[in-house]
Amino acid sequence: METLPLKYTGYAVTFQEVPNETSLIFNISGCPYKCRGCHSQYLWEYTGEYISEEIEQILMQYKGLVTCVCFMGGDQNLAELKLLLIKCKSLGFKTCVYSGSNDISIFDDLLSLLDYLKVGEYVSELGGLNSKDTNQRFYQIKTNKERQFAFDDKTYLFWNK
Ligand code: SF4
Repeated sequence: METLPLKYTGYAVTFQEVPNETSLIFNISGCPYKCRGCHSQYLWEYTGEYISEEIEQILMQYKGLVTCVCFMGGDQNLAELKLLLIKCKSLGFKTCVYSGSNDISIFDDLLSLLDYLKVGEYVSELGGLNSKDTNQRFYQIKTNKERQFAFDDKTYLFWNK
């Protein structure tokens, strides 16, 4: 399948998607996963603006106002996503990607640029991150003493106590 440049449909500041961070969320369109029961079908269509053309201007507006930049999708073009993450890091933001992929290894080349990573397709019977039965995982990416990447599972932070 042809790799298309990433487009986004909009952005917003939220507190929910990344616990303990104020995040600028970009909704990337053209989601390739097509999960059954998807709660965001508006992201299936490849529509919106080219994010690489506009992200720097948006980031400059939010510098000092948010702590983290979170991409909802974007792993259908990992090379471009990597450049976007480099841009965010160079401006001092933490970073997060929400992916519908069940294969975390596709992010091996991006781990040094990621603070948080959500993986796993949406399965309606199991629920999203806020369900204790969920198949999805939300990780904080850490580096251990041997300078290897470690995935600290923080999914429980989404569960109502
Ligand atoms: S990854 Fe998210 S947006 Fe894409 S189909 Fe699955 S639930 Fe919908």
